[in-house]
Amino acid sequence: MAFAEYPVQSLMYITNRPELVFTEGKGSWLTDHNGKRYLDFVQGWAVNCLGHSNQGMIDALVAQSQKLFNPSPAFYNEPMLKLAKQLTDASCFDKVFFANSGAEANEGAIKLARKWGRKHKHGAFEIITMDHSFHGRTLATMSASGKAGWDTIFAPQVPGFPKAGLNDLASVEKLITDKTVAIMLEPVQGEGGVIPASREFMQGLRKLADQHKLLLIVDEVQTGCGRCGTMFAYQLSGVEPDIMTLGKGIGGGVPLAALMCKAEVASFEAGDQGGTYNGNPVMTAVGSAVISQLTAPGFLPSVVEKGAYLREQLLALSSEFGLGGERGEGLLRALVLNKDIGPQLVEEARDMQPEGLLLNSPRPNLLRFMPALNVTIGEIDQMIGMLRTLLKKLA
Ligand SMILES: *Cc1c(COP(=O)(O)O)cnc(C)c1O
Repeated sequence: MAFAEYPVQSLMYITNRPELVFTEGKGSWLTDHNGKRYLDFVQGWAVNCLGHSNQGMIDALVAQSQKLFNPSPAFYNEPMLKLAKQLTDASCFDKVFFANSGAEANEGAIKLARKWGRKHKHGAFEIITMDHSFHGRTLATMSASGKAGWDTIFAPQVPGFPKAGLNDLASVEKLITDKTVAIMLEPVQGEGGVIPASREFMQGLRKLADQHKLLLIVDEVQTGCGRCGTMFAYQLSGVEPDIMTLGKGIGGGVPLAALMCKAEVASFEAGDQGGTYNGNPVMTAVGSAVISQLTAPGFLPSVVEKGAYLREQLLALSSEFGLGGERGEGLLRALVLNKDIGPQLVEEARDMQPEGLLLNSPRPNLLRFMPALNVTIGEIDQMIGMLRTLLKKLA
C-alpha cells in the first residue's frame, strides 16, 4: 500500500513521524510498508528486550489467550501469581503490584511513599528527585521529572518534588527536611542521556535514607530486566532500595509494568490502589515468558559480553572520528558526538539504502543504543559499519 493511502489524518498529532508504516518485525529487524528492512537499535525505546516477535512470547500469548483474557483485577489469576513470584525471587523485594505503563508504576510508587509517610513519618510527603530525570507523562510523574520545560507546559505542577543533582550527594542532603519521605532516581538516567548514577552516589543515598528514615525509590523502567547486564541495575551498586518500578522490558513489547517494594513498606489499604488491567493474565503471561528467558542460565552474562563488545566498537568509532567517547551499562549505551548532529544521523541512518538503521538521539549531541538483549555480534558489527559510513559522509 502506498503511504498516501493510509488514513494518517485520523491520528491525533503528538509528534512528527516519518512517512513509514511498519508492518513486520523479527529479532533485530523491522520491515516497512514498502518492504524495506531496518536494523533496529531502538527496539521501541528499550522495550523489546527479546527483539521483535520472540517465539517464547508468542507461545505464551497464544496459549493464555486461549485460556483466559480477563477475570477481573479483583480476583487472582495464575499468570499474575507466577510472574509476581518470579520477580520477588529475582530481586530483593517482597511485594508486586502490576500496572500498564512505566508512568503508572511510578505514580503508584509516589502514592506508596506518601501513604508510608502518612502512616510512619507524620505525614511527610516530599520526594527528592533528580535534575534531567524522566519518570513519565502523567501530571505527578511529569512533576517528579527533571526535564527542562516540563515544569511549565501543563502548570500548575503537582507539588512535593524538589530537585537535586545526580551524583551530587550534598545537593540531596541540602533538600532533606521533616517533610521529606523519599529519594527517587533512575540508576542510569535514560532520556537524560544515558548518565549512570555512580556506585558511591547510590551508596551515599542509601546511607542518607537510613539516617533520615527515608525511602529509596529506583525507577528501573528503562534500566531493569537485564538491560544493564544485571537483572536490575540497583544490583550494580550493592545497595538495596525500598521501592522499585519496572516497565518497558518487563513486557518485552506488550503494555506491562510493575511496582515492587519491601514487605515493611507495603502500606496500601483496601481501595488505595488499583486499576482495571492490573495483573491482566494475558499481559502477565507474556511478562512471565520474558522473565523466564532473561533468567535462563547464560543469558545475563551474554548481555554483559555484548555490552562490552558494543562499548569497544563505539570507542573505536569515537577515536576514529574524534568524538567524545561513550558511556552506559550493559546494552544501554551512548556515543557522545561533541556536535549537535544526532538528529541528522538518526534521519540519514533511517533513510540508508538498501537497508536502514534505526537509532535514537535523546540529546542532539548524543546517540543512544538500546538493541534487543539477544542482538548478535554480527548485528552489532553491521550497525557499526553503517554508522561508520554515515560518519565518513558527514566528516
Ligand atoms: C519510559 C520511562 C518511563 C515512562 O514509561 P511509560 O511506559 O512510557 O509510561 C518512566 N521512567 C523511565 C526511566 C523511563 O525510561
